[in-house]
Amino acid sequence: MTVLVHGARKLDADGVVDDFWLLTGDGTITATGTGDSWRASGVVPADAEIVDATGDWLTPGFIDLHAHGGGGHSFDDGADAIRAGLAVHRAHGTTRSVISLVANPPHVLAASLDAIARIAADDPLVLGSHLEGPFLAPSRKGAHDPDFLGVPTHHVLKQLLEASEGRLVQVTIAPELPGALEAIGTFASAGAVVAVGHTDAGLDLAREAFDRGATLLTHAFNAMPGIHHREPGPVTAALDDPRITLELIADGVHVHPAVLALAFAAAPGRIALVTDAMAAAGAPDGEYHLGSLPVTVRDGVATLADAAPTIAGSTLTQDAALRTTVAAGVDPVAAVTALTATPARVLDRPDLGRLAPGYAADLVLLTATFDVTHVWAAGRPLR
Ligand SMILES: [Zn+2]
Repeated sequence: MTVLVHGARKLDADGVVDDFWLLTGDGTITATGTGDSWRASGVVPADAEIVDATGDWLTPGFIDLHAHGGGGHSFDDGADAIRAGLAVHRAHGTTRSVISLVANPPHVLAASLDAIARIAADDPLVLGSHLEGPFLAPSRKGAHDPDFLGVPTHHVLKQLLEASEGRLVQVTIAPELPGALEAIGTFASAGAVVAVGHTDAGLDLAREAFDRGATLLTHAFNAMPGIHHREPGPVTAALDDPRITLELIADGVHVHPAVLALAFAAAPGRIALVTDAMAAAGAPDGEYHLGSLPVTVRDGVATLADAAPTIAGSTLTQDAALRTTVAAGVDPVAAVTALTATPARVLDRPDLGRLAPGYAADLVLLTATFDVTHVWAAGRPLR
């Protein structure tokens, strides 16, 4: 199918273009231009669907490097739950997703990795799996079950890598764990993006992890030491290093909007806006689970039922992250880049994340106030 969108305000990593048009074909963007030039271009087939997007933003499809579920479904619960949860995020503009898993016993993780590998093999919108657990510091476990945390032994690494069938694209590691620095090299050699996270590492250890091949910081500021002027910590190490991209959860709760804006200013082009969404994203307040742990969601904020409540993932969708980020004063071009071109670069997917010929026809149409009205992935309508 062929779609022509015209009259839009194009917004992507290359900037804003008014009165923009774009043509899709065979799942990719085949031509772009401005004004009415599409009418005389000779490239628009007679049966193309014509979409008048006057007054709307047109952005690339959003890419979420980190989500655990949505619509009442957890990605830890197998193939049907993954498909149902993804449908919620797709309606909010997320066209490509990494499926994140919380800490679980190795045989449970292996089964999940196998299920994700099968889904990814027949759904190119699923980019692969992310092992957020189990290689996390117990002192920074967040909402991961402490009983299921472990150290990256050769045996467990082999088991998980085999189960993932080459579809493990991301793994979070606390570099202070025994064997962690070696494991960073092993996972990176296997083609996974290694992220530092759920860690008590200071500046020097974080830098060592980056030198060993880690290129991402999992939900920067959350589940790690913050920036103190005498203890600069892992966030400073990441901001300071042009090789490193920082995930941020822009729900206004996990990171204060002022700090969000500061991070964008300090690391231009190196922020990836992720949801870290759990099952309650796109679903009502109530009682849920994150892995094995019960979670209460009130006013859209998910917490563990601890004495001192721990934030347990978010209920965020990426369109809401865009609105929060723009409201924090970040330039819309930088905000959209953090949802599109930057995560595409992290995953080494040069075919994703821009509105230009040759790129995948992943498109989001939004109102002037960034509410999603239409979504296409690989040229097909998702909403
Ligand atoms: Zn986490």
